[in-house]
Amino acid sequence: MKFVSALRPDEIARSIYEIDYEHLWHAGYRALIFDIDNTLGEWGCRTLPESAHALVHQLEARGFVLGFLSNDGGENRSHLKAQLGSYPVIWRAAKPRIGSYRALIALLATQERETAMIGDQLFTDIWGAKRSGLYAILVAPVSPASDSIWAKLRRPLERLVLRLLARKDAAHKDPYKS
Ligand SMILES: [Mg+2]
Repeated sequence: MKFVSALRPDEIARSIYEIDYEHLWHAGYRALIFDIDNTLGEWGCRTLPESAHALVHQLEARGFVLGFLSNDGGENRSHLKAQLGSYPVIWRAAKPRIGSYRALIALLATQERETAMIGDQLFTDIWGAKRSGLYAILVAPVSPASDSIWAKLRRPLERLVLRLLARKDAAHKDPYKS
């Protein structure tokens, strides 16, 4: 169960629009790292949806420092790159390896304890975030149908882990079982 616990998101939200960013701010978080594919837009999107682009600007205006971490290579995504042009983006991040998290945290000049990672995949975004000491927020994929073949294969396993974690939490909360 130890491995399963290492995958535990600190928070789960239906989408990037349903995260309570004010609450994060008041809890002391000042930097937000977003996954791109199926977190901000569909997997492989060439541009950000307008709503996601607007949210990014809104969060920056609120005072958050923003960065982006993608396992994709970023090829043929020039419009997307232009949209994110003013923010640090690390492509080929190799999440859940922690090197790219460390590199981005250094670029953002932030600290682990004031940084939250937001992404749609447990075995990449969330696991890497937890290993890096970040607050980890799992969101549902924007479009599961657009997932890469590898992500599609991992989804049933993700659901299993989430079920195991939910069961474990319930056991902890049950006063008769503690
Ligand atoms: Mg993703």
